[in-house]
Amino acid sequence: MSSVIAGNVDLDNSRPQSTTVPADFVATSQPIDRAGWPVIDSVSLVIPVFNEEGNLTELHSRLTTVLTELALPYEIIFVDDGSKDCTWNLIRDLRANDPRVLGLRHRRNFGKARALSHGFAVATGAAIITMDGDLQDDPDELPRFIDELNQGYDLASGWKQRRQDPLGKTAPSKLFNLTVRKVTGVKLHDFNCGFKAYRRDAAQSIRLYGELHRFTPVLAHAEGFRIVEIPVKHHPRTWGQSKYGWSRLVKGFLDLLTVFFLTEYRQRPMHLFGVPGLVSAMIGVIIGLELTFERVVLDNQIGTRPLLMLAVLLVVIGAQFFGLGLLGEFLAHGNNPPREDPRDAMRESLGFGANHNPLSANE
Ligand code: UDP
Ligand code: MG
Repeated sequence: MSSVIAGNVDLDNSRPQSTTVPADFVATSQPIDRAGWPVIDSVSLVIPVFNEEGNLTELHSRLTTVLTELALPYEIIFVDDGSKDCTWNLIRDLRANDPRVLGLRHRRNFGKARALSHGFAVATGAAIITMDGDLQDDPDELPRFIDELNQGYDLASGWKQRRQDPLGKTAPSKLFNLTVRKVTGVKLHDFNCGFKAYRRDAAQSIRLYGELHRFTPVLAHAEGFRIVEIPVKHHPRTWGQSKYGWSRLVKGFLDLLTVFFLTEYRQRPMHLFGVPGLVSAMIGVIIGLELTFERVVLDNQIGTRPLLMLAVLLVVIGAQFFGLGLLGEFLAHGNNPPREDPRDAMRESLGFGANHNPLSANE
């Protein structure tokens, strides 16, 4: 198999596969039965575009060729992220000639993460495939992504093995990928590849904002989805400019911190703040007891001792950390309404099919 298994994520071949192929796209826009892992029978492409007028027409025609050969119902959702050129007019023209083209237009440039997130929200395909709109990702790779999803993965992430970008981009990117691998434990080679395929429930369970689009595999992995990486062809940009420069590296590392804390501690903030708080307060109390002993038993003067200052400081800092942890717990509690949809967290269930009513068996 061409795929690299990510991290400790393994392949479960025991997944049942539905064989029903719906007649048209509308029929597939029913909620997916998450217990059933149906085969991918429809595809939504989500393509964020920001000033890509020179690439769109060719991209659309190449996608159409590949998707027609694939013979699955599909939709191509272009998300115009506040382009200043004729990108939106072009999307309109494409839509006029091809009803499978859909368009969203941001009021201004909100960034790739929000563009993807809005695309995910409206996509109805069983598979949601994201790719860049600059022709650097090769539409010919689409069938391989779908194959991987059909193997039982929830997310197939592209790996630009031979990246066609200047050294000024590839070198920082290598450092970035290495760090993310180490910090998150998700063993992908290339987090920054825009070419990814998701089962719809995986895509829609990820909350994307800011520049977190680079971390979708980490966020999905934290939710227990199965991830695989596949090497993909990558081409140099022939039209237009890259929207990202050096600052990406710095922002990327800051985002890594955010993602680390979000995935590790969002559900248990007290563990993040409470532990240093307790340690600090305990050391402060021990020093304080020792000073009390000196004052009461040995009758030493302690009023001018720097240790006294330290003891007070440690106890106060400890209490503050503890308070932060408590506040965090209140917030986490408030963000977890009791009526959360339990299906969001399940890989499988028994006896809860879409139309199943267990009570009717008693009638
Ligand atoms: N993009 C976007 N909003 C932005 C920046 C980029 O929608 O604020 C889109 C861009 O049009 C392209 C994709 O995201 O389709 C990847 O951008 P780019 O090619 O500049 O990234 P690079 O290949 O240099 O990493
Ligand atoms: Mg690009």
